[in-house]
Amino acid sequence: MKEELSRLKSEAIESLQRISQASELEPFRVRFLGRKGGSLTGIMRRLSEVSKEDRPKLGQLANTVKEEITTLFEQKKKDLAQHSGTQTKKGLDLSLPGRRIPFGKLHPVTQVMEEMCAIFEGMGFAVAEGPDVETDHYNFEALNIPKHHPARDMHDTFYVSDSILLRTHTSPMQARIMETQDPPLRYIAPGKVYRCDSDITHTPMFVQVEGFLVDRDVSFADLKGVLTSFLQQIFTKDLAVRFRPSFFPFTEPSAEVDIACVICGGEGCRVCKRTGWIEILGAGLIDPEVMKMVGYDPDEYSGFAFGLGVERIAMLKYGINDIRLYYENDLRFLSQF
Ligand SMILES: [Zn+2]
Repeated sequence: MKEELSRLKSEAIESLQRISQASELEPFRVRFLGRKGGSLTGIMRRLSEVSKEDRPKLGQLANTVKEEITTLFEQKKKDLAQHSGTQTKKGLDLSLPGRRIPFGKLHPVTQVMEEMCAIFEGMGFAVAEGPDVETDHYNFEALNIPKHHPARDMHDTFYVSDSILLRTHTSPMQARIMETQDPPLRYIAPGKVYRCDSDITHTPMFVQVEGFLVDRDVSFADLKGVLTSFLQQIFTKDLAVRFRPSFFPFTEPSAEVDIACVICGGEGCRVCKRTGWIEILGAGLIDPEVMKMVGYDPDEYSGFAFGLGVERIAMLKYGINDIRLYYENDLRFLSQF
């Protein structure tokens, strides 16, 4: 019986080593350790046939063999479970919901820009985009701003070379489109522009939406209608708008456009400097000189142009008092929109 036990032990170890799948575990358990018909159980049952003197020793041996096989069997079970990925590791609860992947969002300035474009598209304007690195010709000359013109001082330009620069406005698109197409034209040109300037209301890079329309018999009343409608849609209010005479080299006459302060509603507050009005954009009828430069007859065609700062509109829309917040990439700020 002693030999039988040791044979059984080595047999069990050997077949345990051959097991490579969890499905083979149960047949092994039944064969060696099973209560009914298991080899070991069979031997232990026969202990009653052994003489009284040998019985305790053999009984003890049989128990040891059983324990050893059981330990090895449990070990094998564990190994297989870890391998197959059927995790039984402590602390893993497969019933818990998975971790969410955080979603990205559009930048608030991009959101407002898209909203602005959608409003103008609703009024029949097409969207045109141009290069950020521009020639002096399109940025200045073609817009009636020759070299040494005092208006260049207003622009604080980043020059790449004498004739290449980072565009200071998106107006170059006006010249580029008029040069290659005939009226009627109705375009907006959104995009980044660059000026050497940085404080609470200025950043070296900001986003502008330039718009223009050229056709027969375009008057200042058309400009007023388009801009008033746009401003009332973007601020979603029955908003008061006023036009003040101003000067731009590429428009004549020119106007600065104010809206009733969206913070105080015209009562007067810090944002509007107690005036009740906020300057929001510049506009005007396209200067006949600009028309001539692209070969249009100013007696036949007329048009208007305007330029809007997207950050400025976003600041008023969301009540933000420092433009630089938009470009500090602080997620606590950005995720609010
Ligand atoms: Zn105010």
